[in-house]
Amino acid sequence: MRSSFTLISLSLLMLCSPTIGAFPKQSLVPGGIALIDLKRVDKTPNFTFMGKPVLTVLHRGTLMAIVGLPLNLKLGEHFIQGSWGEEKSLHKLFFSIVDKQYSTQRIEIKDKRKVNPYAKDMDRILAEKKRKQIARLVFSPMTVNVDLLQPVEGIMTGSYGRRRIFNGQKKRPHSGMDIAANQGTPVLAPAAGKVIELGDFFFSGNLVYIDHGQGLITMFAHLSKTNVKLGQSISKGDIVGEVGATGRVTGPHLHWSLGLNGTWIDPKLFLD
Ligand code: ZN
Repeated sequence: MRSSFTLISLSLLMLCSPTIGAFPKQSLVPGGIALIDLKRVDKTPNFTFMGKPVLTVLHRGTLMAIVGLPLNLKLGEHFIQGSWGEEKSLHKLFFSIVDKQYSTQRIEIKDKRKVNPYAKDMDRILAEKKRKQIARLVFSPMTVNVDLLQPVEGIMTGSYGRRRIFNGQKKRPHSGMDIAANQGTPVLAPAAGKVIELGDFFFSGNLVYIDHGQGLITMFAHLSKTNVKLGQSISKGDIVGEVGATGRVTGPHLHWSLGLNGTWIDPKLFLD
């Protein structure tokens, strides 16, 4: 949300230009990611976290699982579990989650209908929610490049996870990163993938979902226009659309959600 820039001091902002991200950074908190060394490369790993398949990539000669940690995850011990290739034996690999306090943000939305939709809006909202859920849970087995490109040049707010109060009403926490940029700024694909959902949605405005493979999903929202078609294959750096102010916004910015094993995590962990 653009209004956040006036609410938080400049010292909290990071000026960033598109850079090539290194390997993702581990952050063992709700909304973070766990990096788990699977210590084998000879067979295909079949590991899940809370019933959802997890992303695995070859990194420095070993297979690493990159596990998305939901914002509402309980603190303490968790595990991924799975097997190798056709082998029957089940393995559990444990990790521990610590607390993180996310800040609270108050936002005033002029279009009150976007905060308190009319009864006649509900069918549309529920249908869109279902489509979003399906897109978020897509898992395509393929090799994934986790070296992501920042999709827009601009000021990242690091606002992922922030608890939000819209027009005085508590709503769900922020599930992505907002990048301030002018209307019409090109939005680039952070990695190669395929367009699995797009349209003009009630809250998200013009949105695009990109499947990068193995449950790594990008969602861009509030675009002024989209340049891609459903089912289209795209390369890293391709222009997907343009920054806009459609849906529930206070001004033009890119909202970028990044999903892993069906949960939205902090995209910043994938950037340098
Ligand atoms: Zn946002």
